[in-house]
Amino acid sequence: GREWQLLSRPVGWPKPEDFAFVEAEVGRPGEGQVLVRNRYLSVDPYMRGRMSAAKSYVAPFELGKAMQGGAVGEVLASDAEGIAVGDHVLHFFGWREYAVTDAKHVVKVDPEAAPLSAYLGVLGMTGLTAYAGLLRTASFKEGDAVFVSGAAGAVGSQVGQIAKLKGASRVIGSAGTDEKVKLLTEEYGFDAAFNYKSAPVAEQLRAAAPDGIDVYFDNVGGDHLEAALGRLNRDGRIAVCGMISVYNNTEPAPGPRNLSRLIQTRGRIEGFLVGDHYDLQPQFVEEVGAWIREGRLKYRETVVEGVENTLDAFLGVLQGANTGKMIVKL
Ligand code: NDP
Repeated sequence: GREWQLLSRPVGWPKPEDFAFVEAEVGRPGEGQVLVRNRYLSVDPYMRGRMSAAKSYVAPFELGKAMQGGAVGEVLASDAEGIAVGDHVLHFFGWREYAVTDAKHVVKVDPEAAPLSAYLGVLGMTGLTAYAGLLRTASFKEGDAVFVSGAAGAVGSQVGQIAKLKGASRVIGSAGTDEKVKLLTEEYGFDAAFNYKSAPVAEQLRAAAPDGIDVYFDNVGGDHLEAALGRLNRDGRIAVCGMISVYNNTEPAPGPRNLSRLIQTRGRIEGFLVGDHYDLQPQFVEEVGAWIREGRLKYRETVVEGVENTLDAFLGVLQGANTGKMIVKL
């Protein structure tokens, strides 16, 4: 089977030479193991962090070994109790065609209940990120005005819609193309949206949020964070989910110049990791699953075909080539 390996740790933007796409031998499952043929791979911004050697919440990718990531596949062979040939499983051995792994590292998913790719996005890791970050970290409550950046992406599009469905007074989103901005207001029900590339964020946010914001869900960092601090209302909350604008920086980015706004506003800024919130998973799947079935929560996916295009798909996410969850279909 073919797989992607990291050859060298990228400095700045990852280059094709930092990677190898190679043929590797597919093992046979031993006792308690399964052989999975991957059908959908997830590519996510956090993978940029794993390409660096710096210590973080997940270990760096090992050089010369297959990279990892969320994946959904079909079981081709099983020597594990409770998992049969033909079952579909979610696991963490993406960036490759086939994976042999201990059954304890896979979770069965139901292809009848939702399209397989949904388990990587709207009903999976990015969906739970939106749900937990908004409802728990940002302590969202009815009547809040919410601003979310990266709003046409996997996490952001769900944050805005969940806020709306739970009674936000106003939901504002930013994204990097006019087409995405249109999608936010016309399909996802955002009250206001703007293209952060067409004018300064602070200026556009002031116009979109005349009464300020109570919650900022940050996917981007940089000038978005500073602008959000500038519009924060009393007792406002900022959930720091991601800072994609700095992931390829070679020098630390300057911090927001107006952090003192937290004093006047008695505001709170807090980072979170989805991995700490899997206790919310059953509640999340029930609530969001129902909204999807009822057509009240919409989602898009950008699907790239072919395992050989996984790197392009990943680079595309960093450049905004995706609308909604970026998925690789094998
Ligand atoms: P998205 O689907 O949102 O894809 C990333 C998007 O970021 C792109 O489509 C692009 O859209 C936008 N973008 C890229 N560069 C910039 C920039 N310089 N300024 C503003 N926007 C930019 O990805 P996800 O939904 O998977 O992830 C969103 C964020 O959430 C990321 O920061 C990620 O790291 C974080 N995350 C954090 C988790 C956690 O546990 N804390 C878990 C999962 C994700 P555009 O065209 O609008 O520029």
